[in-house]
Amino acid sequence: MIDMRSDTLTKPSDEMREIIRAATVGDDCYGEDESVNDLEEYCKDLFGVEGALFIPSGTMANQIAIKAQVEEGNEIITEANYHINFYEIASTTILSRAVLNCIRKKDGIINKNDVEELTNSKPRGPLYSKPQLVSIENTINYYQGKTFPIETIKELYNYTRDKGIALHMDGARLFNAYVATGVPLKEYAKNVDTLSICFAKGLGAPYGSMLMGNKDFINSARRIRKQFGGGLHQIGMYAVAAQYALDYQLIDIKHDHQLTKEMAILLTGVPGISINLDSIETNMIFINIDNITGNVNEFCHLCKKYGLLIFPWLPGIVRLVINRHISKEDVYKAVEILNMVVEKLSGRVRYA
Ligand SMILES: *Cc1c(COP(=O)(O)O)cnc(C)c1O
Repeated sequence: MIDMRSDTLTKPSDEMREIIRAATVGDDCYGEDESVNDLEEYCKDLFGVEGALFIPSGTMANQIAIKAQVEEGNEIITEANYHINFYEIASTTILSRAVLNCIRKKDGIINKNDVEELTNSKPRGPLYSKPQLVSIENTINYYQGKTFPIETIKELYNYTRDKGIALHMDGARLFNAYVATGVPLKEYAKNVDTLSICFAKGLGAPYGSMLMGNKDFINSARRIRKQFGGGLHQIGMYAVAAQYALDYQLIDIKHDHQLTKEMAILLTGVPGISINLDSIETNMIFINIDNITGNVNEFCHLCKKYGLLIFPWLPGIVRLVINRHISKEDVYKAVEILNMVVEKLSGRVRYA
């Protein structure tokens, strides 16, 4: 089975498992897990930030960033399709009792004017809620792994700093953005107040996120992590896996992107489906199957029957993600399967 549903599906190699087995551990709630401490120090250097905290998941990292920077009844400005609104089951309302004030952008990029517009979209003052955080995403999952332009981030940061609003970046796939654009990780980190990254996406570690920001922020984040149930104990086994992924697997993301482009080009030869080749920047391909069937579940089910797992994303759109386990042969095979599925569904005999 070729599994292109996500980049969270990767499994640790034998070598990674060996490193996990040999990890030095301690109680991280006492600050005594050396492997965790080493990883946090490493990330502080890598991103040029004052503080870094190892967190069980990307969702928890985002929710801690919100809790630490937004008071109850106040607002987070974001885009309707970013992860914090679309995929986090409204945890913001439960955990922080804060409101998401969302804009919907065709291109998925919120800029300074959008923030200004949302800020002015209702009365402000002592009797109203106050925007305290802007949250952006990079790369943007819902927009096919699109990179968020650094110039737009800089403009946003100038604006939010000026207004006393915090800027958070959900960088679950920031390594993909870094590899695709060449913008240094430090440059991204320098232009936001807080950011989170995931080790369990394209990097291929089994677990964890790093939440980063200044010292004060990390001190509150540590308390909130405990409140949210994310203060763990001998967690160094996961920290060494994350370190291994940074040391040896980050480099493979470039290969994922190349393979994604190659696959997209091959897919332009499949009749009936449509993809926008120019919009593919990182490791994802969205395929529009409207011309064949609007039923994505039926489409994905057939793909599975032929040996390909893909994600029924939205009505009329299926998603493919290239991860480190996907080879060139898999890509060719997957395109062949998609050809067969399209043929079957459209009742056409291609080789007649
Ligand atoms: C995957 C992802 C997260 C975090 O997901 P977890 O499964 O909670 O680790 C956050 N934001 C984006 C954009 C993601 O793609």
